[in-house]
Amino acid sequence: MRGVVFLGERELELRDFPDPRPGPGEVVLAMKASGMCGSDLHPYRASRRGGAAQSLGLGGSGGPHIAGHEPCGVVAERGPGVLEADAPTGARVMNHHYKGCGHCKHCRAGWAQLCPRGIVVYGMTGHGGHAPHMVVPVSTLVPLPEELSFEEGAAISCGTGTAYQALRRLDISGRDTLAVFGQGPVGLSATMLGAAMGARIIAVDVGRERRELAQMFGADAVVDPAATDVIAALKALTDGEGVDAALDCSGSPDARVAAARATRTWGRVGFVGEGNQVTFDVSPDLLRRQLTLHASWTFSTLLQEECARFVVKRRVPLKRLLTHRFQLSQAADAYRLFDTQTTGKGVFVFD
Ligand SMILES: [Zn+2]
Ligand SMILES: [Zn+2]
Repeated sequence: MRGVVFLGERELELRDFPDPRPGPGEVVLAMKASGMCGSDLHPYRASRRGGAAQSLGLGGSGGPHIAGHEPCGVVAERGPGVLEADAPTGARVMNHHYKGCGHCKHCRAGWAQLCPRGIVVYGMTGHGGHAPHMVVPVSTLVPLPEELSFEEGAAISCGTGTAYQALRRLDISGRDTLAVFGQGPVGLSATMLGAAMGARIIAVDVGRERRELAQMFGADAVVDPAATDVIAALKALTDGEGVDAALDCSGSPDARVAAARATRTWGRVGFVGEGNQVTFDVSPDLLRRQLTLHASWTFSTLLQEECARFVVKRRVPLKRLLTHRFQLSQAADAYRLFDTQTTGKGVFVFD
């Protein structure tokens, strides 16, 4: 089979790999949808092969590995020791895209990415979903509700699930005004999920089309930080108090600082955008206003399932986030577009 391999320097290729066979405790998934996530742009843009996984703090040998860490498909084959009840043939599943030791407290709690004994991140340091088949431990399967499409399942498998967990960490409710910085696939997910949780959302992005999407997905107000003082704008929208909570999905140092400064006393701030640095003037920015800062990295297997149920039950318009569909053979064009486009989310679909 052929799978997408990032070469760095904005190049990729479709490379031949042997068809995967399931080992003990493993299953082979037939891929139905494999999402493109913002963090894929790190290996795509990396100056050299392997540099990106290292820059994301993921370690690993640098590949070559098949990309794609938002895999969603059906169970095609079970390895030795996998019960049919755990992975029925044809079952619709998402993949929690991490493998740990399987035994430590984090792995047993469904947080394999926190395993201290070393992890595989599928699509980064292990073969991912940008190929017709993928082999994973049965413990990484998360059921996909009947009501959701494979494409929505792919989105939940990283970007949308990440937004959901960050909002859980911030304990977002209908009492909150929440500012979401950055309206890429994670930020737009945070906007629609936060609105479904009852919060009043203020979406911040430099892109006009992205701000329009945010309004379509339930934002009460939008702010262009390139055209106005974003902190003053957020305070003006909250009677001078500042927002109750702010979430940075952009990874921009300026946005992180603005998120903290635009949040009210006793408010909460969340960071999910990857990479870069941030410099705070700690006393006035954080201490004097009793801020709580949450650093959030993706989600557990159970939270992935919870997110999927939430999307179904609250009729979150996730389908409308998926604006671009590609065949695997179009991967070069797909990532070239993703690297420069300003709206929505792309996904590879498989027949
Ligand atoms: Zn472990
Ligand atoms: Zn991701």
